[in-house]
Amino acid sequence: MAETDVRPTNFIRQIIDKDLAEGKHQQIHTRFPPEPNGYLHIGHAKSICLNFGLAQDYQGLCNLRFDDTNPEKENIDFVNSIKDDVHWLGFQWHGEVCYSSGYFDQLHGFATELIEKGLAYVDFSTQEKMREMRGTLKQPGVNSPYRDTSVEENLKQFAKMTAGEYAEGECVLRAKIDMASPFMCMRDPAIYRVRFAHHHQTGDKWCVYPMYDFTHCISDAIEGITHSLCTLEFQDNRRLYDWVLDNITIEARPRQYEFSRLNLEYTVLSKRKLIQLVSEKHVDGWDDPRMPTIAGLRRRGYTPASIREFCKRIGVTKMDNMVEMGVLESCIRDDLNQNAARAMAVLDPVKVVIENYPQDKTEILTAPNHPSDESMGSREIPFGRELFIEREDFREEANKKFKRLVLGKEVRLRNAYFLKAERVEKDEQGEIQTIYCTYDADTLGKDPADGRKAKGVIHWVSADKGVPAEIRLYDRLFKLPNPAAEENLTECLNPQSLKIVQGVVEPSLVNAEPGKALQFERIGYFCKDKHADKLVFNRTVSLRDTWAKIEGQ
Ligand code: ATP
Ligand code: MG
Repeated sequence: MAETDVRPTNFIRQIIDKDLAEGKHQQIHTRFPPEPNGYLHIGHAKSICLNFGLAQDYQGLCNLRFDDTNPEKENIDFVNSIKDDVHWLGFQWHGEVCYSSGYFDQLHGFATELIEKGLAYVDFSTQEKMREMRGTLKQPGVNSPYRDTSVEENLKQFAKMTAGEYAEGECVLRAKIDMASPFMCMRDPAIYRVRFAHHHQTGDKWCVYPMYDFTHCISDAIEGITHSLCTLEFQDNRRLYDWVLDNITIEARPRQYEFSRLNLEYTVLSKRKLIQLVSEKHVDGWDDPRMPTIAGLRRRGYTPASIREFCKRIGVTKMDNMVEMGVLESCIRDDLNQNAARAMAVLDPVKVVIENYPQDKTEILTAPNHPSDESMGSREIPFGRELFIEREDFREEANKKFKRLVLGKEVRLRNAYFLKAERVEKDEQGEIQTIYCTYDADTLGKDPADGRKAKGVIHWVSADKGVPAEIRLYDRLFKLPNPAAEENLTECLNPQSLKIVQGVVEPSLVNAEPGKALQFERIGYFCKDKHADKLVFNRTVSLRDTWAKIEGQ
């Protein structure tokens, strides 16, 4: 698609422009630091496009770093899916993939340095006691009785922690900062804890693991990151980020800048909540097409360009906001309108018999794959005496506004002939079974010589050569615009988020590429599902914005 060329500036670009102008850095170096404890979602795409995008635009570098300090929640499948998603979005990280766990030796050394400087201590208080001593936003905390333990004793205890002599939760290593700080994260935060857990990268080497705040800033410094971009919830933690780097022996001085998270209506963007949907089987896995994950959007037929365009349109600010689903959908719609091949499918078929068409004849018609882009070529579609059309495209009687097939009137069959409805056959319930029609053999690709006009154009599929297919129509996953604010997430799931219909598609679609969306003419954009062993099409997006209508209901 034509991604918008103008790059909107933002406060981070302004900071970088200034840093480069002042010669603070010769080259910028950013990083995208996911924790491999779930699949990436569209919020992560915002961070990916920002970090990798800045590196691209400023001829800098961007690392992919796994922030892997919680071994119990992480695994190698998540690592692999994240790498795959970053590539799919169109980005390549600088050099090898990095892991915070790759710095465990150095991190342990820096923790020891803090102890030696009298700036860290091992605390054996119970977790409950520690919570009590932390104080509140209104009340300062209280010093722990372990705060004044000697350096020698702390070194000894930290060595014992590292050697596995203490149980999980029995003690933690804390930074000695300020129990009266207005920033809670500065009230002697834990920087190392005991975990007897197998790690996907380091195996069983460690039974102590560093905490996020201690790890992140040091990892940034080790990698030479210049601008460490994260979301606003880490604003306070910036004090701790700077404190750690101020108090250890390390040359590089990365700076942290915060921007607002992406929130998207009618969905949730928190791995914890997405994990719940997957593990409780409310959805069909991480790549369920209703999920806001990159894998889900991909399976649904979204393109990398449409997601990058979305990230560009929403921009980067410090303001918290909630983005409407329509913004994301309009990005994929714009892309597919321009780039998706056209095809015909009938979702609610009713049979048409063309009585003046020869019994055993099948014609092969040629149809362009795109109405305005000839370079997309054409395809062959079989036409015969029996067709399927959309049930809603026919009425026995209708007023002038109904521009489809009506008894006694003519329509044009898309890519084919004029068709006139003559009579119908109904079943006992009064439902139409067959529409008997006639066609005008002299109207293929041209209007009738006598100047007759068709009421409209409808799509169709050959009854004989068409292929049955399951069509999955997706709707918003949640009933409420902000499900994350609800106490019980699963209670506000939309029970109608997936509707399955059995349709018929033109034969060329049997070989459609999974995940690559096409336009089913007059219906919407669909792509073949990659998992199913039968022919299944997922609806990527409808032709027009239906969200505005839904809102008003
Ligand atoms: P989650 O709440 O989904 O678990 P997280 O922040 O814990 O998100 P990480 O894997 O730590 O997930 O995130 C990697 C990077 O992506 C971080 O820099 C984080 O700030 C950013 N990120 C995560 N969610 C969003 C979002 N909704 N919008 C923008 N950036 C995000
Ligand atoms: Mg996180």
